[in-house]
Amino acid sequence: MSRIVYVNGRYVPYAKAAVHVEDRGFQFADAVYEVCQVRDGHLVDEARHMTRLTRSLSELKIPAPMSAAALAHVMRETIRRNRVRNGLVYLQVTRGEGPREFVFPSQDVPRTVVCIARAVAPAPQHTTAGEGIAIKTMPDIRWRRSDIKTVMLLPACLAKEAAHGDGAREAWLIDDNGYVTEGASSNAWIVSREGTVITRQIAPAILAGVTRATLIDLLREEKVPYQERPFRIAEALEAREAFITSATNTVMPVVSIDGQPIGDGRPGPLTQRLRSKFDQFAAISGA
Ligand code: PLP
Repeated sequence: MSRIVYVNGRYVPYAKAAVHVEDRGFQFADAVYEVCQVRDGHLVDEARHMTRLTRSLSELKIPAPMSAAALAHVMRETIRRNRVRNGLVYLQVTRGEGPREFVFPSQDVPRTVVCIARAVAPAPQHTTAGEGIAIKTMPDIRWRRSDIKTVMLLPACLAKEAAHGDGAREAWLIDDNGYVTEGASSNAWIVSREGTVITRQIAPAILAGVTRATLIDLLREEKVPYQERPFRIAEALEAREAFITSATNTVMPVVSIDGQPIGDGRPGPLTQRLRSKFDQFAAISGA
């Protein structure tokens, strides 16, 4: 079956999908995006993703191209046309096209909207979660508004590339004071010796992960103690468990940082419990 991509009001074959060379997303990374998990054909955590997209657009003063409900419809239709049961859907909105000028074009310039859906087989992910992943630490060289989900992802690409070169699957970014901000494309968590779950508080330095927010709801429900505060790598190395969260990974155990094991070097029991709690949530979310 050929893949179909949504571009500016049309559903077109993947090979024919294109945007203008002077699109501001291409020229300036003047664009925002969302990645949502697709589970059994439905969007997981749709409302939170749409709220964050609306906020990203508003922080950058990009007029919304259509209502959040219409954008969610585009995502669902792209999933349907590609017959994706399990996988992800990617939505990008750019400020639109125009001669390459730094100053914003007129508000009337139509925004560019692109939506791509992709099937991802769940089995390899379960295998990875059973083994846990390695982390490499890298300096956080991003701008000071990492709370906005922009396509300006070169620092994340550089960090992930370095991590992959060292056999690690994710990079944890370290701020100028030696604290972990977050993963290159995930939020970072540890579980203290006392069993308290710790993740950095929401601030312009990190992306307010949708999975992070839902996991905090689950921690409350499960009465698991948690703290939202920064932590250093030294504290992470003393932790009982560590994990990352993102829409595509859900809750993914971390078993080593810079080659040093976390806990006994295997996925922790609380992390595994939280992963299965999240799975249960995802199975019913939006169904
Ligand atoms: N932090 C960064 C920098 C990210 O790129 C992502 C996801 O791509 C996350 C955190 C996790 O966010 P979410 O749970 O909404 O996928």
